[in-house]
Order: sequence, then structure tokens, then C-alpha cells
Amino acid sequence: MASVDYAWSIELGQELTASEAHEKWFMGILSDKTMFECRDENCHAQITCVNMDKQQYQMKMREHFKVYGQHSEKCEEVKRNKDVNRKYKTGAGTESPELEEEITFSMERLLSHKETQIDKHNDDFSEGQSVENKIVKKEAEGVKRSGSRKSHLYLVHTLVTKYLYGLKNGTLAKIIVYVSYPGSKKIYPTPLNKLFINVKNISLMSREASKTRIFFGKAKICKNKKGEYWVNFEETLSNDERKVCCVISQQIIDNTLSKNASKKLLDCFLYKDNTYCFAFGKLKETKDRIYINILTLDHLACTTEDIERLDDLC
Ligand SMILES: [Zn+2]
Repeated sequence: MASVDYAWSIELGQELTASEAHEKWFMGILSDKTMFECRDENCHAQITCVNMDKQQYQMKMREHFKVYGQHSEKCEEVKRNKDVNRKYKTGAGTESPELEEEITFSMERLLSHKETQIDKHNDDFSEGQSVENKIVKKEAEGVKRSGSRKSHLYLVHTLVTKYLYGLKNGTLAKIIVYVSYPGSKKIYPTPLNKLFINVKNISLMSREASKTRIFFGKAKICKNKKGEYWVNFEETLSNDERKVCCVISQQIIDNTLSKNASKKLLDCFLYKDNTYCFAFGKLKETKDRIYINILTLDHLACTTEDIERLDDLC
């Protein structure tokens, strides 16, 4: 069964990559992984987003699209897919094929622009309009199909999935994320091996420590009486005695796109041993502690995969 980069989401009336579909499922915007079809306007081949509805830590394989239906005779997508430069991984048959992907990660909240437009489309959604919508959208989108897939992402746990994948395959330096920081119009290309920083490998004096990065390490998550979560990292920064932590206040929870889903996910890791936490934020020092300040729970992720063991394997 063939795999594709993009599929048309019937639920949303929009073209998506599998990672985007997964995030939209997490945010409660999509619910059915089988509600996709071929993005060619003349084709309705059924597509399923495998693992769309699994949490990152439950996935054995990354989310990806699988075509189950038959493409129509006139389908342009079939021809296009043959031309696209795909690098199929040999060996491990369980992994999805490795495709060129361009990832944009936006740290701004998205509710204001894109999502509200999507909601409007959904109001008057019916079968007939879906096809019409598909054609109109396609014309407007023009050339989104230069060869590599483009994903616009908002949740750090989706990036962690890509990080783990890159770590296992030794391709971290090759996977570039275009990060758009809050309040900045510029977009900064950063390879995953620079974007992710193990807290114990960095000194507060280094240049990287002053940047907004995904700091990670083994940590224990606790919850206090005020309902705040404390992510207490087990390791300190290099040459520093102070404890490293990330405090998740009610305000940060309120800033989250999918508050309930994110809280529920975080609760799965409460007081759990062997948890790695990833916090996309800035370091701030006080006399006793180093804080990783984040803006929203969308910028925190956890996994029980043994990252340091994986790192040694590379
Ligand atoms: Zn097709």
C-alpha cells in the first residue's frame, strides 16, 4: 500500500501532512483517522492517517498516511508521487518511509488566524461543497508541491517524535525546523541537534543557553496544592549546582491550545520514574535555581523512551 505526503482531510476541508493531522487530532479538531482522501480533485481514493489518534509515547511508528482506496484513472497525485525523490529506508520494515519534510514550528498561538477560518468553513459543510472547496483550495495553494512535504506545527510533542526518529537514524543535523518565535516576524532555521539541548550538556555561560531552545533531561513531575506542576530535572547544567526546573502555573495551562488533552497527558507522567521532559523556552537564573520558562503546555512534552541510551547508540 502506497504512502503519500499529503492528504485531503474530509473533516476539515483542507490539505494536511500526517504530522499536522496528528496535532489537529490532539487539539480536538479532527476525530476520525479514516476521513482522508487523495488530494487530487478528481480522485477520492480513501486514505487513513495511521497513528493520528495515538499519543506520541504510544506510537511505535510515526504518524503517516496510507492509501487504501483506488486512485482514479485521471489522478495526478499518482504520477507526481513517482517523481518525488523518496528515500525509502532499507532494513527496518516497521518504519514509515523517510520523506523530505520541511517543518515550520510556530510558537505563537494560532487560534486568532488559521483556526478561526477553518471553523467558519465547517459551519456550512456538506458533501457537495467539499469537492468544490477542494478545487478552490488547490488553485489558491498553487505550488505547495515542490517535492518536499511542508508541515506547520504547534506542539512540542510532535517535534519530539521527529527528534526521536532523527536520533535513532542519526539524521538530527539534517532535519531543519523553521522556528517562528513569539513577537518576531523572522523565521529561524535550526537543525534538530541544535534546537534540542540536554540540560547537563550546557553551561549557563554558553551562547546557546541564552536562546529559546528545547531543553530536556530526565525529570520528575510533581503537582502542588495550588495545582501547579513542577518539572524537576535530575541533572544540573554543567558546572552549576543549582536545581533546574520548569514551573507550570495555571496561567500557562490557560494559555494552552488543548488544555484538557495536555493536562491529561501531563498527568500520565506525574511522579513517574524514567521520564524525560522537553521544555521549549528560555533559561532564567535565580540564586537557588535555574528555571526553564515556557509560555504554554503546548511547549512541554514527555516521553519514557530512554533517550540517553539511544544517544549512545548513535
Ligand atoms: Zn488519487
